[in-house]
Parts: sequence; structure tokens; C-alpha cells
Amino acid sequence: MSVFSPVELAPRDPILGLNEAFGADTRANKVNLGVGVYCNEEGKVPLLRAVQKAEEARVAEHAARAYLPIDGLAPYDLAVQKLLFGTDSALLQSGRLITAQSLGGTGALKLGADFLYRQAEKRLVAISNPSWENHRSLFEAAGYEVVDYPYYDPATNGLNLDGMLAGLEALPEGTVVVLHACCHNPTGVDLALADWAKVIDVVTRRKHVPFLDIAYQGFGENLEDDAFAVRLFAESGLPFLIASSFSKSFSLYGERVGALTMVTANQGETAPVLSQLKRVIRTNYSNPPTHGAKVVAAVLNSPELYQLWEEELAEMRDRIRHMRIALVEKLQAAGVQTDVDFIQRQRGMFSYSGLTKEQVARLADEFGIYAVSSGRICVAALNTSNIDAVANAMAAVMK
Ligand code: PMP
Repeated sequence: MSVFSPVELAPRDPILGLNEAFGADTRANKVNLGVGVYCNEEGKVPLLRAVQKAEEARVAEHAARAYLPIDGLAPYDLAVQKLLFGTDSALLQSGRLITAQSLGGTGALKLGADFLYRQAEKRLVAISNPSWENHRSLFEAAGYEVVDYPYYDPATNGLNLDGMLAGLEALPEGTVVVLHACCHNPTGVDLALADWAKVIDVVTRRKHVPFLDIAYQGFGENLEDDAFAVRLFAESGLPFLIASSFSKSFSLYGERVGALTMVTANQGETAPVLSQLKRVIRTNYSNPPTHGAKVVAAVLNSPELYQLWEEELAEMRDRIRHMRIALVEKLQAAGVQTDVDFIQRQRGMFSYSGLTKEQVARLADEFGIYAVSSGRICVAALNTSNIDAVANAMAAVMK
């Protein structure tokens, strides 16, 4: 009997399973709408010009690879704070900010989860219904009980604000509440500005612990507007956590570039919190990798590269927006009678299309078009070569 013999096969990751099925499909005109990455008009993950320029400069430097500090590259951490709170935010000088470079947004969430778990007595996390599929698994793996709060309203394909507020109100005091700061994954449905103030009001009264997840800053309106929720929380004076990811906004998925930022209630809390966070990092992976953070810091800290990056980010955002408009038009032209305008209102890379599980299965079987069984489609995987086939197939299964 080996130590491994009782080990049971883990359930298949639904999205990876979908990629396998897509890979095995031999049809030439197959389309993968299940992916969570931005693809350009050629259907490829782009290498941004700003990234390329920063990388060229970095290679030319022939820099040695010493260890980074436990909490990462300081110019990177500072640049992350500026992006979140704005360059002239008083918080930057307040002594209330802690930022640690992390292994993508996932790593930031896990650091925050592990940190809070060690400090808190109550270990309850609330995520939106629905949410990014890894939220639940990640917090459960970190030892928490995970519940959800109402979020998406299938009747309106919009936000169930009253349900959300009532759900947050009903949670036990001190619950860790995970909130998508912008471009909600998977629904593409965001809170309006006035809604955030209501959420902050409930969270404050119930003494919840807000944990903002910002993985798509720049994909909604622009870098500034997409940070609105973060900045409103900052103004509230509440202590809170933020998980940043640059996987999408820099198209640096494989470099694992993210950051955990914690805003403490006062300066006195900062040193102990940072010291405990460093323990979490040290006992997990000791310190983060250099390349991605160096590249992102070089772009964020150079006015010229920053401008180029903002332009490239706008190109990605606009391309997705055009694909949304085209998809709605083509669905209507193909005879879809139901209201599909909501696809245009949704923001970020994804759309909760309203397709049922059965319709998603038919899309794959009959047309070689793969989507997540929840009906989530990646709008950033559409392009002018595949959109007609997708719209016609969707129309066929929706009739
Ligand atoms: N949060 C959300 C809401 C996401 O959609 C994702 C990525 N799909 C992440 C976090 C994780 O990002 P990363 O790939 O940088 O770990």
C-alpha cells in the first residue's frame, strides 16, 4: 500500500475540460468561447508593444537575478498603488498602505485569504452568485466556509441590487465579502456608481471585511473609471483588501503578475500587518519572481510606455465593444426574437449570454462552438472571421 494508493481522482476543472474537448474537435471552423483570455483580431493572445519595449530594454541590461524582497519589487508595488488610488491620492502618503507583489490575481487572493485566516475568529467568506469559479475553491482550500450573496438577475440580465444589499445585510458581522471591482466575471454586469455607495453603507454597518478583486482594470471604461469602487472604499476610511491582476491588462498571463494591497485603518496597524503578511509569503514561496514585475513596473513608471500601454488597452477594450455590438446585430439579423441588447451593456471580456446548458451542449455538438455550460461566452474570443458562424449558431440553438 503506497502513500498514494488511496488518492482519488479530483473532479475535472470545467474550463480545462472544455479546452480539451475543443482541442480534440477536428472541425476546421471550431471556435473556443470558453477561454478566459483576450485574443486579437487574428485570434491570438497579443504581445503588447509596451511590454515588448520594456522587455527589450530589460534584456539589454543583462541584469543579474538576485532574490526580490519578500513583498516584491518596491517600484512595482508603488506603481500598483498609484494605479489603484490615483497618483495624487492622499492614501499614498498616509502610511496606511501595504502592497505585496503576488503570483497573479489568484496569488493575491490566496495571500489575502491566508493572512485573514490566521487573524480572524470567524472564517466565513461571501462571494457573488455567480462568481469567478475559482473564488469558491480558493477560499475553501484556505479553510473558509463560503456562501454567496445574490448578484445576477436572470430576469433582467442585470444586477439584483436589492437582493445583493439584503444578502450582505443578512450575513453574520465580520464576513469577508469578495466584490468584483469592475467587469464582473462571469456576467459582465457591474454596479452603477450610486450602487457602490449603498454596498459600502451595508458593509460598514455590518463590519464586514471587503476584499475587492480587480482583474480587468481598463477593460470597462478606462483605467480611472474602472477604479471607482476602489477609490470609494478608500474614501470611506474602512480597512479593506484588494487583489490586482495584470494578466489581462498587460496580456502577461503566464508571467503571473499581480498584487495584494491592504488598506489599514490607521498607521499604527501597518507594521504588524505587513510583518504577518511577509510570514505568509515566506512560508509559501519565499519571494516572488522578477521578470513580470520588472516589465510592468518599467511600463507604469515611464510616461512614454504608460501612454503606449493605455492606447493598447483602449484598442483591446474597443475591439471587444465592437464585437458586442456586432454580435447583437447579427443575432437580430439571424432572427433571434428575444431581447439581446443586454450583451451590449455588459462590460469586460465576458458575457452571460442567457444560453442554457442544453443550448451550450448543442453549440458544441452541432457547430463546434464551445462555451461554458453556465452560458458564459468570452466576447474577446470573437473576431470578424468567426462572428458570423457564432451568431448563426447561437441563433439556431436559441430558436
Ligand atoms: N479574479 C477574477 C475575477 C478573474 O477573472 C481572474 C482571472 N480569470 C482572476 C482573479 C485571476 O487572475 P490571474 O490569472 O492573474 O491569477
